Amino acid sequence: MNIILMGPPGAGKGTQAEFIKNEYPIPHISTGDMFREAVQNGTTMGLEAKKYMDAGQLVPDQVTIGIVEDRLGMPDCQPGFLLDGFPRTTVQAVALDEVMQRLGKKLDLALDISVPEDVLMDRMVGRVFCGSCKTVYNTVFNPPAVAGVCDRCGGELVQRSDDKAETVKKRIQVYMEQTQPLLHYYTQQGNLVTLDGQRDPKEVFKDVRALLEQLG
Ligand SMILES: [Zn+2]
Repeated sequence: MNIILMGPPGAGKGTQAEFIKNEYPIPHISTGDMFREAVQNGTTMGLEAKKYMDAGQLVPDQVTIGIVEDRLGMPDCQPGFLLDGFPRTTVQAVALDEVMQRLGKKLDLALDISVPEDVLMDRMVGRVFCGSCKTVYNTVFNPPAVAGVCDRCGGELVQRSDDKAETVKKRIQVYMEQTQPLLHYYTQQGNLVTLDGQRDPKEVFKDVRALLEQLG
């Protein structure tokens, strides 16, 4: 089962990826990890990517796609893969199709976890975590008993700078803009399934599991 996982920041994509990884023998491949590994392993594409990253430049698509091709060609991807954070654009999606064709694979499912923008804002901006034990809370949906204090260890709750309102809004908007054409692309391919991410993550996963069972 070859799957792409899509969803805006705060949609609960990471939680679904965890659930999938726990039940299915396919690797979860996030873009960040894939880059780190390629650089660490000193692959040709990894070294190429490092040149751009060291110079503070965006890694060109061609290099990114090379890294994706290397990764999807590894033996652990034989039973399938869960690709997370790539592709981001239609150009990358077309390139991914070409990569898969070269590797003799085909995409089975583009899974989109959908949550409206205002709900995402509430989820993300309310997110705080314990500075000591790292337990995550949400001031709206899952508040601690005492505001600002960790239930578990009494540590101080802090907010990630990434989770400040303006930053969150920008991240969500950039995501939405980039991804709209991508959703259209996978709809036309007949691979897109959109799930309502406004529910309990376990409920969402029931749908995910039903879809994966169909893939066999
Ligand atoms: Zn704590």
